[in-house]
Amino acid sequence: MRTIRGRLTLAYAVALGVTLLVFAAIMLSSSRAAQQRVLQERVDGVVTLGSAVIAQAGTGLFDRVLVAEDSARLPPLSASVVRRLAALPGYVLVVDSSRVLYANGLALQLYARDQDALLRAVRRAFTPEQPAGFVPLDSIPSRLYVQVHIERPVERMQPLRVVAASSAEELELFNLPIFATILVSFPLIFVLSVLASWALAGTYLQPVDHLIADLEAIQDGRSLHRRLPVESDENELDRLAETINRMIARLEGSFAALRRFTADASHELKTPLTVMRADLERAMSSPGVTPDQLPALEEALAESARMADLVDSLLTLARADEGRFDIHRESVDLAALTADVHETATILGEGAAIAVTLAVNEPVHVLGDMVRLRQLLLNLVTNAIKYTPRGGAVTIALERRGDLAAFSVHDTGQGIAAADLPFIFDRFWRADRVRSRGGERGGFGLGLAIAQWIAHAHGGAINVASRLGRGSTFTVTIPAEPAAG
Ligand code: ADP
Repeated sequence: MRTIRGRLTLAYAVALGVTLLVFAAIMLSSSRAAQQRVLQERVDGVVTLGSAVIAQAGTGLFDRVLVAEDSARLPPLSASVVRRLAALPGYVLVVDSSRVLYANGLALQLYARDQDALLRAVRRAFTPEQPAGFVPLDSIPSRLYVQVHIERPVERMQPLRVVAASSAEELELFNLPIFATILVSFPLIFVLSVLASWALAGTYLQPVDHLIADLEAIQDGRSLHRRLPVESDENELDRLAETINRMIARLEGSFAALRRFTADASHELKTPLTVMRADLERAMSSPGVTPDQLPALEEALAESARMADLVDSLLTLARADEGRFDIHRESVDLAALTADVHETATILGEGAAIAVTLAVNEPVHVLGDMVRLRQLLLNLVTNAIKYTPRGGAVTIALERRGDLAAFSVHDTGQGIAAADLPFIFDRFWRADRVRSRGGERGGFGLGLAIAQWIAHAHGGAINVASRLGRGSTFTVTIPAEPAAG
């Protein structure tokens, strides 16, 4: 979940999950509250009816005439009162302070200890201010919702309590239909919404992916003329693209100035260097030069030759960067080219007793620039000889690999450390920078950069495999012309 898409979806999932949970809790509790209201209204209706029966009976409440103030021994309720009370639903009781005057069938079914508990609660717990409440019982699986009305049907008689109750079972049990709806629909809503948010986040972030891909294509320094597409200036991403475009334009300007400077400077240096070399050669061959002056003149000549090489390489790369180098494409016979380079390499290798062998299996032609391809091959071969100790071996090989021409230069030399491999094609990069300065191997670190440019300019690639102390193999692959026949 490192991507913005993942994080957005996760944040949405958490927010949606919490919302659904809160919503479920509110739904369940409001449905429970509604059910409780229904229960209370039902019991209230029953107790009001019961009280009305008692109040209307008046002196006919009992089946005998009541002796005034004889509240201790009340006679049973009259048959008509009992009949009307029996018609009421739920639990119905009429009690005074010491006796139960009436209890309907349902109330009589309660365990004796539950009847006692109910009577205790009715007599003590419920007051005119608090006439209703829940009483827990053993006989039924739930609590009993009880409401009490106090009636005094006959003057000076002690008050009677009319009790109506109903099981709160429907409250205790889960509200199944709602619960089942929540259980089925909420996970479904959750999963579908999270999937939709994943898809939507992907859709909205797609322009960012495009922006990254476009920028990646531009960032190599040679495509700075390209710009990111901008559709409008209202969208944040378009505004970002516009800002990046302005930055690329400034970069393009600086790069161009830098390249122009390198190209111009190299170009300007060429003439004085040529004059210097000519002057040095003339001085060395003049009759007035003394033998002790010769070594200094020779060194100056060698250094000016090195400098001319450097200026040449810099000019090549600067022009390549500017795109001012045209590749003159013609059909090039690579077998002939490698044979030619092999001859030069054999002469170069002789001094260091390095045997250079050629392994060409078949003729391969490519469409390319003969001069540049020769330079590329020669760069690799001179490196192979330069970095191989006396008595080593160098092999130049050419083969066709499908649609590609592959030529490689293998040596048994010092090799390149794995940590150095990513840098060897960088400009001015040399593995033994300090040791080689001014020494016999005094390259400038530009040869491979030029080789890589030539390979790329031909639509090819250059690769290296090397092990320190064991040798290296540089392989160049370039699209080949279809084989004849
Ligand atoms: P240089 O002019 O220094 O040879 P290159 O660009 O041709 O510059 O090579 C860059 C560096 O890569 C060299 O300095 C050397 O350290 C390393 N290198 C190139 N070719 C080989 C090779 N065949 N064997 C070992 N090291 C090599």
